[in-house]
Amino acid sequence: FLPHLVAAMVEVEETYIMIKPDGVQRGLVGEIISRFEKKGFKLTGLKLFQCPKELAQEHYKDLQSKPFFPKLIDYITSGPVVCMAWEGVGVVASARKLIGATNPLNAEPGTIRGDLAVQTGRNVVHGSDSPENGKREIALWFKEGELCEWAPVQEPWLKE
Ligand code: UDP
Ligand code: MG
Repeated sequence: FLPHLVAAMVEVEETYIMIKPDGVQRGLVGEIISRFEKKGFKLTGLKLFQCPKELAQEHYKDLQSKPFFPKLIDYITSGPVVCMAWEGVGVVASARKLIGATNPLNAEPGTIRGDLAVQTGRNVVHGSDSPENGKREIALWFKEGELCEWAPVQEPWLKE
């Protein structure tokens, strides 16, 4: 495929981005939100939220059998998180790039984890790994009426 054809195949997607308790405690909320905002994606949901254990377990159910699972659940429920829904063409993969590798020591400089974190167990932010999981996670973390449909005025300046 030619690059422009591949780009044309990418659709409007939704992704669930979450600032983890360490990101909130370290005062990185504004910094992290601004990276997605400046990139040009559309924020459709946002809240500060104390996550119950059951929700954390459901969110990370694919990792249930991993040895780090109990610590991961303790981490995610250790303080408030910032829940966000973002929308845009190719937003799922692009947000993962902005976030960087799971282990912050392997994350490139310029990425959120590469710039702001040092440990896998304190990697400040979550991003959905597929469009399907984006939808699943947004439905899991947001209730009916908590998401907004709106048209940013900058749209004609982002897309030709
Ligand atoms: N995690 C961990 N130890 C590991 C792998 C993962 O504590 O060895 C945590 C880490 O917070 C990570 C989360 O579990 O962000 C989910 O793991 P995943 O492999 O899905 O990484 P991500 O998609 O967040 O990059
Ligand atoms: Mg993941």
